[in-house]
Amino acid sequence: MAYKKSNNIDVKKINKNIIYKYILENKKVSKNSISVSLNISMPTVWQNLKELLDNNLIEEVGEFESSGGRKAKAISIVENAKFAVGVDITKNHISMVLVNLVGSVVKNIRLKKSFSYSNEYFLWFEKSIKDFIFDVDINSILGVGISIPGIIDRTGISISSSHVLKIKEVPCYDFSRYIPFNCIFINDANAAGFAESKYIENNAVYLSLSNSVGGAIIFSKELYTGDNVRAGEFGHTAIVPNGEKCYCGKRGCLDCYCKASLLSDLSNGKLNVFFDKLNKGDKKITEVWDRYLYYLSIAVNNLRMSFDCDVVIGGYVGAYFADYLNDFKNKVAKLNTFEENANYVKVCRHHFEGAALGAALVHIDSFIKSV
Ligand SMILES: [Zn+2]
Repeated sequence: MAYKKSNNIDVKKINKNIIYKYILENKKVSKNSISVSLNISMPTVWQNLKELLDNNLIEEVGEFESSGGRKAKAISIVENAKFAVGVDITKNHISMVLVNLVGSVVKNIRLKKSFSYSNEYFLWFEKSIKDFIFDVDINSILGVGISIPGIIDRTGISISSSHVLKIKEVPCYDFSRYIPFNCIFINDANAAGFAESKYIENNAVYLSLSNSVGGAIIFSKELYTGDNVRAGEFGHTAIVPNGEKCYCGKRGCLDCYCKASLLSDLSNGKLNVFFDKLNKGDKKITEVWDRYLYYLSIAVNNLRMSFDCDVVIGGYVGAYFADYLNDFKNKVAKLNTFEENANYVKVCRHHFEGAALGAALVHIDSFIKSV
């Protein structure tokens, strides 16, 4: 087996990265605690901190209380040293977020604009991004992450298909050619799942219940995208043999039974109105919701059996799901062969702009790994 021996430069780089991540995770630390916790000698800690200070990636933020002797200086990372822009493109809107190095959304905006595959749209898209970041130092921007409701090909240079945007085999460059930053493209459910992965212990599957059903697989806190970047397309797992016709052309797909529009279509396209009516005990709405949860419970149990990890309910419906979680857990638990309860079912943390956030976090994550 061939292997590469680490040289001094590698070790130095690794140490710097470990120290930076330690400060990031612990928010406020002393030099001594870095040395003790990471088992790195004090001179090496000093040397790396100096480099991080010189690059404006960390800062001194006061002193720790002392029980005697000199007070230790407190060190934190400079949260706003770098930013990434996340954009979520949907059929009728774009959402944008500006995200800093600790993953906080510094500002956000949602603009109404129907997608069209046209130069007019792409020029508007560029102007919207520039307007959004007009007050941000462009040298601090790591890049733009663009979430698309569709399948991005393995190379990341073309969009294989998007049912929502009605495009097929188009180059990502059409979206990014006017944007003067490094752009990456990511499937919307993968992006939203990636945003949730920050709260996940280790592994999870994310089920996106929006106007189409999708998902993401988080394995060891990283996105697992599969051999063809189609992992997590739970919407097209068959749940009813020879069932309802799906937009994909097949029958009985989960999408037909658990897309959010099944609910919002009953309340003028407004999901919040659907849940208002549900809470008021509307009979028809209650029947639809019960049927929805019936199919959803089968899907969630299948995911648990397949992946043996937490299942996070997300997407448009996920934003309203917390009130119904306990009842839903009981439904799912009854289907499970091995477990008494379904405490592995969780509700997403990010109710809105999750996909835009996740797209931005791809840049933030890769920067942190590169420090
Ligand atoms: Zn389908």
